[in-house]
Amino acid sequence: MGKNSTRKKVERLRGMYDVLPSEVWIWQRMEKIVSQVFQSYSFQEIRFPVVEETALFTTAIGEATDVVEKEMFSFQSRSGLPISLRPEGTAGCVRAVIQNDLCNRGTIQKLWYQGPIFRYERPQKGRNRQFTQYGAEIFNVSSPQADAELILMSARLWKKIGLPNITLEINSLGTGQARLEYREVLITYFKSHIDQLDKDALSRLETNPLRILDSKNPKMQEIVQNAPVLSDYLDEESMDHFEQLKSILDECGIKYVVNQKLVRGLDYYSRTVFEWITSDLGSQGTICGGGRYDSLVELQGGKPTPAVGFAMGLDRIIELIKDLNLWQPDNQVDAYMVIDKEIHMKHINKISEKIRSALPNLNLLINQNPSSFKAQFKKADKLSADFAIIIGEHEIKNESITLKSLNDKDFGQKEMKFDEFVNTLNQYK
Ligand code: ATP
Ligand code: MG
Repeated sequence: MGKNSTRKKVERLRGMYDVLPSEVWIWQRMEKIVSQVFQSYSFQEIRFPVVEETALFTTAIGEATDVVEKEMFSFQSRSGLPISLRPEGTAGCVRAVIQNDLCNRGTIQKLWYQGPIFRYERPQKGRNRQFTQYGAEIFNVSSPQADAELILMSARLWKKIGLPNITLEINSLGTGQARLEYREVLITYFKSHIDQLDKDALSRLETNPLRILDSKNPKMQEIVQNAPVLSDYLDEESMDHFEQLKSILDECGIKYVVNQKLVRGLDYYSRTVFEWITSDLGSQGTICGGGRYDSLVELQGGKPTPAVGFAMGLDRIIELIKDLNLWQPDNQVDAYMVIDKEIHMKHINKISEKIRSALPNLNLLINQNPSSFKAQFKKADKLSADFAIIIGEHEIKNESITLKSLNDKDFGQKEMKFDEFVNTLNQYK
C-alpha cells in the first residue's frame, strides 16, 4: 500500500448488529434466566450447525412461505451443494434428532437450543437479518400436556424477566386432512372476492390460502374478517385436544385469547399454534411463537413422531427491556486498585494475583496506567466500584492492604493484613 493511501472502511452488513460491552450484560443476564428456566423443566440443550442443506428448509418450512420464498440466505458450497444459513431452528433440530436417533421407540425428548438465525428481511425495529432465537421442542408426546407445558414455561419466563403487557393468542389448525377441506372452502371464498385481493393474496390464493388470513394490509381486513373460520372444519379429535389444552391453561391461571386468524408462517404446524405478543413494540410485537408439528419428523425422513415447540426472538425481548428500562446493570467492578505510581508493577501483580486466588468472584480492576491518587479515585467512582484497594509504599513495607469503601461512609478506610482483608471482602460478596 502506498504511504498516503486510505483504506475504505468495511462496515457491518445491513440488518446485522454488534452487541457492545455496554449492553452485553442484558444478553448475558437473559441467557442465564432462559437456560435456568428451561433446565428447571428438564429440557436438555442441543447444538446443531447454523448452515444446512437448503433442501432441509424448503421441505420442512414449505415452498410457499415467506421464509423460503424470499427470506433465506442461500448460496452454493464450493462443491456446488445448495446450502442456507438457518432461517429458524426447528428444521435443524429435527434433522439432528433423526440423524442421531434420539426419538426412536417413543422416547420422550425435551430439547432446547439457542443461537443466531438469519432472514433476508427489510431491516426495521424488531426485524434484523441476523437475530437470536431460543427454542424448545418436545418429541413423542401427542397429548396437549406438552403444548401446555411449553406455554406454562414461557409464561414463567416472562414473569422472571419482568415483561408487562404481553398476551397469549392460541388457535388450533386441526389435522392436515381437516385443513385440506378448509383450504378448498377458503379458495372458493377468496375467489368470489377476487377483485378485492392484493398482490400478495393473489399469489397465495392457490399455494397457501391460509396465509391470506395473516395479511397485515388494512384494505384486506374486511374480507379477512368475513372469511369462513377454520374451527367450523376442525376434526373432533383436534377440537378435543384444543379443549383440553384450554382447560389446563384455565386451571393454571394463564389468560389467553383464541385468535381464529392465527395460522403462523410456516407450513409444518398442525393442531395447536400460539403466539406471545406485546403491545409495547409497535408492529413487530410477537416475541414468541410456536405450535405442534406432528408430521414434520416423518416428512423429514424419520419415524412418525408427534412434536411441539416454540421459538422466541431474544432481540425483540431485549429491545423491550431497554425501551421500558426494566433492568438495571450490576456493578462492572467490585474493587478498583489504586496504586502509587512509583511502586514497581511486579509488587502490584504479586498482590493482585494473591487476591484473585483468595477471592475468585471478586471483579478486581487494576489501573494499568497509574496516575495521581486523585485521578484514580475519580475513576473508581466513575466505575461505581464498591471498594478501592490502596497500595502505596507504606503498604508494601508493612505487607498490608488499605481498603476503602466507596459507598459506606461508616466503613471509611482501614489498613489490614491480608487475612483480615479477605475476610472483610468475603462478607460483602
Ligand atoms: P413475524 O410475523 O414478526 O415476521 P415470524 O412469524 O416470521 O414473525 P417466527 O418464525 O415465529 O417469526 O420466529 C419466532 C420469533 O423470532 C418471532 O416471534 C420473533 O420474536 C423472532 N423473529 C422473527 N423474525 C425476526 C427478525 N427478522 N428479527 C428479529 N426477530 C425476529
Ligand atoms: Mg417473519
